[in-house]
Amino acid sequence: SRATLHNQDEMMKKDLRIGDTVLVQRAGDVIPEIVMAIPEKRDGSEIPVLMPKSCPVCNQPLTKPEGEAITRCQNPHCPAQRLQGLIHFASKAGLDIDGLGKKYLEQLFDAGIVRDIPDIFNLNAGQLAQLVGWGEKSAENVLAAIEAKKQPPLGRLLAALGIRFIGEITADLLSSHFRSLEQLRQASREQLLEIEGIGEQAAASIVDFFADPETCNLLDRLQVSGVSPATQLKPRTDQPLSGYTILFTGGLTSLSRDEAKKRVKDLGGQIAISVTEKTTHIVAGGKAGSKLKKAEELGKTILTEEDFLRLIEPSSS
Ligand SMILES: [Zn+2]
Repeated sequence: SRATLHNQDEMMKKDLRIGDTVLVQRAGDVIPEIVMAIPEKRDGSEIPVLMPKSCPVCNQPLTKPEGEAITRCQNPHCPAQRLQGLIHFASKAGLDIDGLGKKYLEQLFDAGIVRDIPDIFNLNAGQLAQLVGWGEKSAENVLAAIEAKKQPPLGRLLAALGIRFIGEITADLLSSHFRSLEQLRQASREQLLEIEGIGEQAAASIVDFFADPETCNLLDRLQVSGVSPATQLKPRTDQPLSGYTILFTGGLTSLSRDEAKKRVKDLGGQIAISVTEKTTHIVAGGKAGSKLKKAEELGKTILTEEDFLRLIEPSSS
């Protein structure tokens, strides 16, 4: 039966050897776990486990990063890594390209048709027709699915690129702080660290990723292939008026209504045009009428013009 050995450190610590008789227990009621080897049962034929020193695919030295449990090939251009990267890119965790699953990507990769991510966007019906098992219809569907993903939200694209330490949540965080991929590409480590939720590891990983000439080449080729991420600015929650939805009624004296609305939006707030559930504050200027009355009835916070000025310029009061 199969049993888990969490990682190589565990295996070394437990001095497990190939051919060993082992004691197994259920871990968390689900996966049997190897507790220890039983050395008394050894007959001398057991082989100590040696971790390979180089990647079996690209021959580059393997390293086990400090603090990580897994030895990995660190060569970002390793074919095995590239294929995994492609599979991730098209998967649900990535751009979610319908019909372009692991099996097809392996086939395209082995045939040398898709070697890296930009190749996906340059596929044509002729190439797919050469492959065994691809009907005309499925080829058409896949090409349409690829075409449909050419303007992914920036966060999706970042998550799909498989940048180390950048999962879906971090990718979304980045996309809500940078208006474009270009801006993110130019971000310094310090700028990244200013973002709540971005730590040292992630910041370093992003800077390294975008500094890599191979990345620049990849992104340029994506652009040439018509892939351009759509930036979706999520409402920020770290601005002074985040969460405020303000309705203006009546006349203001020290600034125009348009100027006031602009200030609210610049500070992360929203403008209401009528008193609704979403309205949080009413700024009542001179000659405020029915809207003020309704707001009072609904128990909304009523601000005078002076209150409003203090709200937008707390330091000037
Ligand atoms: Zn490798």
